[in-house]
Amino acid sequence: MKKRLSKYSFGVGDRFGHQAKAQLKAIKMAKAQGIHITPVWNKSYREHEIINSHPLETRNQADLAVQELDWKNGYFVDADHVGLKTVDYFLESSDFFTLDVADFIGKRAAQSDIADFVEANKKYISKFSVPGIDGFFDITSQKLEEIAGKYLLAVQEAGCIYKHIVKDKPDSDIVIEISMDETNEPQTPVEIFFILSALAMENIPLQTIAPKFTGEFHKGVDYIGDVAKFQMEFESNLAVIRLAVEEFDLQHDLKLSIHSGSDKFSIYPVINKSLKIFDAGLHLKTAGTTWLEEVIGLAESGEDGLQLAKEIYTQAFERMEELSKPYLTVVQIVSEKLPSPESVEKWDGLTFASTLRHDLSSPLYNPSFRQLMHVGYKIAAEMGERYLVALRDNEKVIAKNVTENIFKRHIKPLFF
Ligand SMILES: [Zn+2]
Repeated sequence: MKKRLSKYSFGVGDRFGHQAKAQLKAIKMAKAQGIHITPVWNKSYREHEIINSHPLETRNQADLAVQELDWKNGYFVDADHVGLKTVDYFLESSDFFTLDVADFIGKRAAQSDIADFVEANKKYISKFSVPGIDGFFDITSQKLEEIAGKYLLAVQEAGCIYKHIVKDKPDSDIVIEISMDETNEPQTPVEIFFILSALAMENIPLQTIAPKFTGEFHKGVDYIGDVAKFQMEFESNLAVIRLAVEEFDLQHDLKLSIHSGSDKFSIYPVINKSLKIFDAGLHLKTAGTTWLEEVIGLAESGEDGLQLAKEIYTQAFERMEELSKPYLTVVQIVSEKLPSPESVEKWDGLTFASTLRHDLSSPLYNPSFRQLMHVGYKIAAEMGERYLVALRDNEKVIAKNVTENIFKRHIKPLFF
């Protein structure tokens, strides 16, 4: 039987590999209250490179947490944002593969392939309506050609990566996600419908698709954009996927995946409601914000932990440009809003924690401070054993923050 995600699944990142248990605990708390979620540990090549870790470590930590907490349900280890160049690195350890083909969007496939695609989809040339969406879309052969011109090569690339993976691993053991989120323009619901048509023609048994949504999904902070517009788009995407599953014989439980999905508190109520209206599932990938809970825990844990947290901030402040570089499109740090290291030096633990913690009701919360710390994990990685020893010494207070953040601020508003 093919390995599957449950209706709801949750991607957790664990940069330093110490919080898998605390993360799984949040999933268990949901289960105790009747909400079943498949945990997925995701870590990208970029993160492994910056931290100097290996995907096998992620696998071992996930396995260990599952064993120690006696988790009897499914779980996965996600090779996050892989392409042909990086996928081999993850083959042994992963059973979830996020095929990132965003770089191929806008590059043209062979003209004969585009023509085949248009031919295969010509029955949709009309005033095309989708159950669940008011009105209709005007589909013409030019429109189909335009969509194919923009996305067909990306879909073909996904096919190449998929075939490469199944040379090594049985298809029944893996979950495939296609991601197109790291690009400039959101995909429209109609584009998603025809992208799914192309993915079906390419015989990729994807279980999740991560489009780029309207608005900004910056790392570790709230959604920036028009919530009503997001809702309309999100519901249209759900309607289009439901129809595409029927039309193209895709995986029956195919669902949307939201990347950089942590901390998007202002859209969670909308997502929750829309999922229920459509009886749809969701995969939500968080942006490695567990690492921030570690720093919050350190700041709260006493003088030594606080000192370490301050040191990370001071260095991150000095190296802001270098640290933000790999994340330019997904962070927005306003440098005038950043406190000087000299003033942070005088803070107590509560002030540090409240400035960093994403609690909108707190007057101290500072999104720029939070985003700078978010990209500052390289500093902690450079501290090596010193940082890891601090994590171990303060495990209790850190684990509490990690679990609570996932359960209370994420799982509850999203799925309950
Ligand atoms: Zn992504």
